[in-house]
Amino acid sequence: HLSIRRQRQMCIRDSNKLSAKIAQIEAESSDLKSKLALEHDKAMRDPLTGLANRIAYDERLMTEFTRWQRYQTPLSLVICDIDNFKNINDTFGHKAGDKTLKIIAQLLTQNCRQSDFLSRFGGEEFTIVLPNTNKAEAMNFANKLRIIIEKSRFNYGNKSQTITISCGVSEFSEGDTTEAVFERADQALYDAKNSGRNLCLPG
Ligand code: GH3
Ligand code: MG
Ligand code: MG
Repeated sequence: HLSIRRQRQMCIRDSNKLSAKIAQIEAESSDLKSKLALEHDKAMRDPLTGLANRIAYDERLMTEFTRWQRYQTPLSLVICDIDNFKNINDTFGHKAGDKTLKIIAQLLTQNCRQSDFLSRFGGEEFTIVLPNTNKAEAMNFANKLRIIIEKSRFNYGNKSQTITISCGVSEFSEGDTTEAVFERADQALYDAKNSGRNLCLPG
């Protein structure tokens, strides 16, 4: 049979092997975790503008809704839609349309507060979730954004074009669901479009 000394040597060798194996598994797991985090981030972002996408919007709205139910601090929602955006594509081409979306995303980002949650909801529509903001304040904010965009110069080749947005604004109130609040903002946006565009309306 093996000597005690030999048995101890074998034991140490097995233990070293096991430690190396654990270290390898840990490294692989940390690698997978960062890959997963990157994938998660990618899934929540709109590739064209770099803004949060609709999935991220749904998630954040639900978080803020839960907070609102618990603490009852005001919570508002703004839906912005570029006016006659189809004309930009039709007149200057799809690439110019994409460039316009990027610039508008930048302008909106620059003028949102850290706690506001801006996202590209889809196409040429953007949503902004505004915690600690009532309807009147959200209306002021939406109008501020509207004026900033109206005053910006958009250049296509040697042509300069004015671009405007319309917004629907709503605030969470007793008994509301996220869907109901979205619906009111969307209806207000629809009314703004029918009232001539370049307009923010409360819903
Ligand atoms: P309204 O003032 O009523 O909102 O009119 P509109 O032309 O802005 O709205 P409509 O819904 O008729 O057209 C939206 C256009 O937005 C049509 C679609 O091709 C364009 N669009 C949506 N997503 C993108 C995009 O990622 N890139 C470009 N270039 N165009 C897009
Ligand atoms: Mg639209
Ligand atoms: Mg539009």
